[in-house]
Amino acid sequence: MFTKARIKLTIWYSFIIMLISIVFSMAIYALTAREVERGFRRVHMFMQPPPRQQALINLNPELEQDLNQVKENLILNLVLINGFILLLSAGSGYFLAGQTLRPIQKALEDQKRFVADASHELKTPLTSLKTSIEVALRDKKLTKSKAREVLAENLEDIDSLDKLTAVLLDLTNYQDNGSSLVFEEKKLSPILQKAAARIKLLADKKGVEVKTSLTKPDLKARINLQTFTQMLLIFLDNAVKYTPKGGKVTVTLESKKDVLIMVKDNGIGIAKKHLPFIFDRFYRVDQSRSKQNVPGFGLGLSLAQKIIKLHSGSIEVKSRPGKGTSFIIKLPKN
Ligand code: ADP
Repeated sequence: MFTKARIKLTIWYSFIIMLISIVFSMAIYALTAREVERGFRRVHMFMQPPPRQQALINLNPELEQDLNQVKENLILNLVLINGFILLLSAGSGYFLAGQTLRPIQKALEDQKRFVADASHELKTPLTSLKTSIEVALRDKKLTKSKAREVLAENLEDIDSLDKLTAVLLDLTNYQDNGSSLVFEEKKLSPILQKAAARIKLLADKKGVEVKTSLTKPDLKARINLQTFTQMLLIFLDNAVKYTPKGGKVTVTLESKKDVLIMVKDNGIGIAKKHLPFIFDRFYRVDQSRSKQNVPGFGLGLSLAQKIIKLHSGSIEVKSRPGKGTSFIIKLPKN
């Protein structure tokens, strides 16, 4: 598909360049031929005895022949130059068409991979739902309590589907430059406190401590409250998810050249080889183990990174397996 488009674009580029070149060549030919002819007539006139007016009308046959020869040479040179321009424009057109199409091709491939991955993730809970319903329907001795059990399992799968579609929708919505979001100057520490309090419920259940250390309580930044909170919850939720019982999660807020927010844990950590990929969509460090032990789709960090970009910020990660992970979010001051 892209090779065809590239060839088509090359033809169009070459056609336009050749059209311009031919029009120019015709103009050059007309002007040059006129000047040369004028020169020939002048020479011819000086070769004639006076009165010389007659000489202006007709050239002698030898000069006429020379003039025609010059015109023919001119045409030949212009044809050669145009041939060279055609070759050059076809070559550079092919190269430029490739350059133009490459980002489109990459975006399309990304999109395809995204749809394939998303469909795969959607298929898993759907298959599980279908199987459990089919088995329950086939069971002639299905008791009320067993039916309840099946329905509870189904609800879990539906919850999972619901979460996945919500994240997929968010990812698509934040794809643009976030022009529809409202950004306001806000004090950050109450927002961090609130997010930490929300995650504390989950952390308490797991026996993980959540602490905040907000040295600059009045520090402000331009944020969109809803997406900013969503981003904080992703980091906090991960920190709790990937920290074993008895571990600790700390949220800090500092003011340096930028506003620095750090979510630090002393959990399982991430091996160096995985670090470059953790922000990729659907990337999970240990697919099989993560899926069994820790729920998730590998979309959280990708979404968080998008939100940070919408805030013109950046993200840094430091991690050591077995020691813990720190995510440092940098936001511009004002
Ligand atoms: P998931 O839904 O799997 O948590 P994320 O996109 O949020 O997806 O994270 C991608 C992967 O990065 C996770 O599967 C996990 O392996 C790793 N990860 C993220 N945060 C942490 C953390 N705080 N500690 C250890 N590993 C983490």
